[in-house]
Amino acid sequence: MSLINSTNSKHVIIVGAGFSSLSASCYLAKLGYKVTILEKNNYSGGRAKQLKRDGFSFDMGPTFYWMPDVFDSFFEDFGYKAKDFYQLDKLNPAYEVYFGENDSIKIGDNFESIKQTFENVEAGSAVELQKFMDVAEENYEIAVKDLVYQPGENVWEIVTPKTAMKLGSFIDTIKKQVARRIKNKKLRKIMEFPVLFLGAKPSNTPSFYNFMNYADFQLGTWHPKGGMYEVAQAMHRLAESLGVKIIHNSPVENIEIEDKKISKVVSNGTAYECDILLSGADYHFTESLLPSKYRQYNQKYWNSKTFAPSALLFYVGFKKKLSNLSHHTLFFDVDFDEHAASIYDSKSWPEKPLFYASFPSVSDDTCAPEGQEAGIFLIPLAPNLEDNELIREKYFNIIIDRVEKLTKQKVRNDVLFKQSYGISDFKSDYNSFKGNAYGLANTLLQTHVLRPKLKSKKVENLYFTGQLTVPGPGVPPSIISGKVVGNLIHKYHKL
Ligand SMILES: Cc1cc2nc3c(=O)[nH]c(=O)nc-3n(C[C@H](O)[C@H](O)[C@H](O)COP(=O)(O)OP(=O)(O)OC[C@H]3O[C@@H](n4cnc5c(N)ncnc54)[C@H](O)[C@@H]3O)c2cc1C
Repeated sequence: MSLINSTNSKHVIIVGAGFSSLSASCYLAKLGYKVTILEKNNYSGGRAKQLKRDGFSFDMGPTFYWMPDVFDSFFEDFGYKAKDFYQLDKLNPAYEVYFGENDSIKIGDNFESIKQTFENVEAGSAVELQKFMDVAEENYEIAVKDLVYQPGENVWEIVTPKTAMKLGSFIDTIKKQVARRIKNKKLRKIMEFPVLFLGAKPSNTPSFYNFMNYADFQLGTWHPKGGMYEVAQAMHRLAESLGVKIIHNSPVENIEIEDKKISKVVSNGTAYECDILLSGADYHFTESLLPSKYRQYNQKYWNSKTFAPSALLFYVGFKKKLSNLSHHTLFFDVDFDEHAASIYDSKSWPEKPLFYASFPSVSDDTCAPEGQEAGIFLIPLAPNLEDNELIREKYFNIIIDRVEKLTKQKVRNDVLFKQSYGISDFKSDYNSFKGNAYGLANTLLQTHVLRPKLKSKKVENLYFTGQLTVPGPGVPPSIISGKVVGNLIHKYHKL
């Protein structure tokens, strides 16, 4: 076994090259640490994997670029703007939601037009929406300024005069809050949609999280040209320019501990010495590489947690342009609560699935050859379900039937190719616990100090980052998580 020596006394090894790891690597490099990333796969970006096939390109993971202020703030910390790295376009409509045949609502790219859309569906709802949004805006300010950049070391971090005033909104739920203001079922579903990004049912998500509605209706839905993969590549380039060494095809297989401190990690038979180990890989998986006495959370703990859903995805090349569909299109024509119950309660395959579809080539000509359409379809699912080709095929047919029926067009015979991705792929590609797609949900009991810790309580120089830690799932929170853990490492290991 060869041994790579670190010449600098503060060498941070980071496991994984997802958004959180890339973010942390930039901050640590800027603070003067020597940083090496070991990534299992052959690209940077983690969940933001890209599929390229026959002139088509697909984001295999995240597709919604929300909270552009978080991306801007990240690049500004290094003297850049996001637009120095990629072209960003605001989508109009932001997205479209189907409720039945020829029955859809388009959400525009500015709040005034969205209020008008609401008013057209339910008289008086524009005023109610404005009131809702005033509170959501306040919560966004508090969340982004006071809360999400806290490391979750103790509860006092988030006790401020402003948050104390908001205590009730941590007990109230989004579902109840929406229902108090809006009567129309379709509008209610639209308002409950943003918190699905947090990974839990609206009936189980504190109403404080309505700041996601502010992100949706006020900050807008953006598209980086080429897709979300381009954002990860931008962060990869920035990290390298700051001196971070990124090594692909290097799965960390072994972690060696001496005197409660990690001394080296082993990948592909090479041992890498480190002073600090930061894992942006799945938390449960990383702890499974440690002797059991050094693990903070046992199997019972992980089994008791509410995980964000897993998903079944299809990436489809269509040989023609499709009609009646927007860049982001949600198919909410079936019972929302029944599908949610299949994810969180019965943990079974949904009988009538809701699904989300993205057609990036509607607004980005780099995503499909001229005259053709790229389609991404996603069904959210309970983690750890049985996953095989037969089941996948069954659900592909359900999706295609519904798209044809609801959008009044034939598409089945225009499929050039399709590729699927599911629970077993999340496990094998990312070592993801039970094949979850986007981490640990943000419920009341899984917020801030109640999430898995950034700093290990049992190993002195071990840290974690990413969607299972603070602040939670999603690309912007993962970027924030990287910044927060970078500062935390610096607090305890100043050069
Ligand atoms: C299908 C899907 C759709 C989504 N949609 C959106 C969206 O529209 N908008 C949004 O904001 N968010 C979305 N998300 C969530 C978002 O993508 C994630 O929360 C975020 O990318 C997580 O980043 P991370 O750094 O925490 O983890 P990851 O991206 O999982 O990064 C972890 C990295 O660790 C690597 N790794 C694992 N084991 C090892 C090992 N042993 N050695 C070395 N490396 C290892 C993995 O290969 C991976 O690269 C979506 C996620 C999925 C899956």
